[in-house]
Amino acid sequence: MKPVHIVGGGLAGSEAAWQAAQAGVPVVLHEMRPVRGTEAHKTDSLAELVCSNSFRSDDAAANAVGLLHAEMRLAGSLIMRAADAHQVPAGGALAVDRDGFSAAVTAELEAHPLITIAREEVTGLPPRDWGQSIIATGPLTAPSLAEAIAETTGADALAFFDAIAPIIHFDTIDMDVCWFQSRYDKVGPGGTGKDYINCPMDKPQYEAFIQALLDGGKTDFKEWEGTPYFDGCLPIEVMAERGAETARHGPMKPMGLTNAHNPQIKAYAVVQLRQDNALGTLYNMVGFQTKLKHAEQVRIFRMIPGLENAEFARLGGLHRNTYINSPVLLDPSLQLNGREGLRFAGQITGCEGYVESAAVGLLAGRFAAAELQDRSPSVPPVTTAFGALLNHITGGHIVSDDEPGKRSFQPMNINFGLFPPVEAQKSEGKRLRGKEKIVAKRHALTSRALADCRDWLGLEQSAQAAE
Ligand code: FAD
Repeated sequence: MKPVHIVGGGLAGSEAAWQAAQAGVPVVLHEMRPVRGTEAHKTDSLAELVCSNSFRSDDAAANAVGLLHAEMRLAGSLIMRAADAHQVPAGGALAVDRDGFSAAVTAELEAHPLITIAREEVTGLPPRDWGQSIIATGPLTAPSLAEAIAETTGADALAFFDAIAPIIHFDTIDMDVCWFQSRYDKVGPGGTGKDYINCPMDKPQYEAFIQALLDGGKTDFKEWEGTPYFDGCLPIEVMAERGAETARHGPMKPMGLTNAHNPQIKAYAVVQLRQDNALGTLYNMVGFQTKLKHAEQVRIFRMIPGLENAEFARLGGLHRNTYINSPVLLDPSLQLNGREGLRFAGQITGCEGYVESAAVGLLAGRFAAAELQDRSPSVPPVTTAFGALLNHITGGHIVSDDEPGKRSFQPMNINFGLFPPVEAQKSEGKRLRGKEKIVAKRHALTSRALADCRDWLGLEQSAQAAE
C-alpha cells in the first residue's frame, strides 16, 4: 500500500500520522525542523507547544474544549494520551510538562513500525504521485510552501494574519435593549433587512467607552510579527487613538438605524453585531478587531448597552497566522476541492488552539487512511465536538449578505455556539431559568455529543450514557 504523506510534525501532523498508522496505513511524516526552524519553535521535537503549556479546561460536562478532550480520548488520540501521562497540576485545566509531552509524542511516532519520519522542508504542494497527502504546516508554514498554496488556492484565499473581532453567544445579548435591523433596512441577497443586532449608545456612554478603549491594557506584537495594520481593518482602540469621533464615523456610526424600543430617541453611536454561524447562535462585533488584553475586552465590551451580561465565544485578537479560506476550498472531509487526495489539517484550516489543531489532524489522518483502504471517509455528526469543529471549518459559517464576496471566515476555538442547540430538560416538571438553564443545556449537549461520538466511532455506549 502507498503511504500517506503528512507535511508538518506539529500537533495536527503528529496526531494525523498516529491515527493513519493505527488504522494500518504506512505514513511518511515530513518535518522541516531542525533543517529549518520557525519564528516560534525552539526544539526539534514533534508536537512542540510553542507558547502556553495548557490544553485548557478538562471538564467534559461543562466546557467545549473539555468535551473535545473526551472525544479525542475515545478516538485513541496520541496527543491526549501523552498529555495525560505528562500532566502537571493546574486546577480544572489540563496542563502538561511541555518537554516530557513532546518527547513522548516523538518517541511513540519514531517507534511505530508503519511511520517513517523525514526531516526535510517540503517546498511545494505535495506532488500528485504521492497519492494521499495532508498539509499540516500550521500558522508558521514555511514561505515557499505558503506561496505554492496561495498559487493553487488564489492569493485571497490564504491569510497571513488573523484580525479577529469578539464573538458573542446570542442568548446572552439583552434584546430588550438591542434590536434587529440592517442599516437603511437594506435587503441583500438572502437577507431580510433585519440582519444585524444593534446596541445603542448615548453621548456620555460613547465618550466613556472611547476613554476605556484608550486606557485599556493592550498586548504587544512579537518583533517578528511586524505591525500588520491596514486601514480597512484597524483595531478599535487604534481607531480611538486617531480621534474621539473616528469610531462614530466608522463601525459605530448611528446612521440608517431606528431604535425599535424607543423610535423617538436617536442613538449617538451604535455597535452592530452580525450573525456568525448558520445556526444563529453566535454574533460577531462588526469592526471590533482588537489587541486589547482578554480581561480588558470582557470588562470594556460589557459597557456596551445590551451586552452587560454578554458571554464571549471568543475574544478578539490580531496575530501572525497562516490559514486558508476552508469553507470555500475544502470538502467536508478536509480535501481540497479539485485536487483529489490532498487534505489540510490543523491551524492552517482555520481552527485555533493546540487541542483543536490536534483534533482536526485526528480527523484528517482517519479520512486519508479510509481512502487508502477503499472506505469512504466517515464524517462525524455535527452534534459532536469533532463534527461541530469540522462544520465550522468546512461549511458552518455564513457570508455577509450586504458585503458580497467579503471574506468573513475567521479562526475559532471550539465552543458551545458551534453545536446545534438542545433543549434543557425540566427539573421536577419546573421550567429552568438563568444559570440553571445554561448548566442544564450544556449537560444535555455534552451527553448527546459523547453518545453520538461513541456511535460514530462504533463504540458501545457507556453505562452512564445509557441510563
Ligand atoms: P504546528 O504545531 O505549528 O506544526 C506545524 C509544523 O509544520 C511545525 O513543526 C513546522 O516546523 C512544520 N512545517 C512548517 N512548514 C513546513 C514545511 N514547508 N515542510 C515541513 N515542515 C513544515 N495555541 C494554544 O492553544 N495555546 C497557545 O498558547 C498558543 N500559542 C501560540 C503562539 C504562537 C506564537 C503561535 C504562532 C500560535 C499559538 N497557538 C497557541 C496556536 C496553535 O494552537 C499552535 O500554533 C499549534 O501548534 C498549531 O498546530 P499545528 O499542528 O497546526 O501547527
